[in-house]
Amino acid sequence: MPERGLLLVVSGPSGAGKGTVLKSLFTKREGLFSSVSATTRLPRPGEVHGESYYFLSKDLFRQEIKDGNMLEYAGYCDNYYGTPRGPVEEKRNQGYDVVLEIEVQGAMKVRHSCEDATLIFIMPPSVAELEKRLRKRGTEKEEVVQRRLETSKAEVHTASAYDYIVLNDEVNRAAHDIDCIITAEKLKPGNCPKIFIE
Ligand code: 5GP
Repeated sequence: MPERGLLLVVSGPSGAGKGTVLKSLFTKREGLFSSVSATTRLPRPGEVHGESYYFLSKDLFRQEIKDGNMLEYAGYCDNYYGTPRGPVEEKRNQGYDVVLEIEVQGAMKVRHSCEDATLIFIMPPSVAELEKRLRKRGTEKEEVVQRRLETSKAEVHTASAYDYIVLNDEVNRAAHDIDCIITAEKLKPGNCPKIFIE
């Protein structure tokens, strides 16, 4: 039987660069599984059902919640986002370390429902840098940038509820930090392979 994998929750404000850091982490480390979330928002160009997200209607999403199929879920910008429970359990039991990239309300739900989860907060180097990154996307109106910035600042205040804070001033270094966190978590007594000395 393989050892049960870790449950890694990664959050961070919009513009902190969590997607880029995780991409870099996946090139450095084997045995990771990225959970595919469900959402009621519409697909963006290039997003594929079952890969980027499972795109569900609001009725279907509510039914999945009712049936107990969501490990966590949250309302974010007028839509639901949630983590399907089945694949997370299945992959962890196969020994994979499962990564959830989710916002802070969902992360706090996981904190309370899964005692053994490891919560990592990706912190942008400064508010000025966050603002620069949000503007660099160039896709949002000034009003939206301001709202996102306010939300991001509020999210930063929840960082102290996480187990680790990783500063993303340089993508590869931030990914390396998460790699080290995973290694350290695996060395905790509860997660180590059981070794019996006769
Ligand atoms: P986007 O619409 O930009 O893809 O995602 C919006 C926010 O929802 C991001 O902060 C993203 O991390 C978060 N998110 C994505 N999937 C989930 C999920 O399964 N649960 C929760 N709680 N948040 C999610």
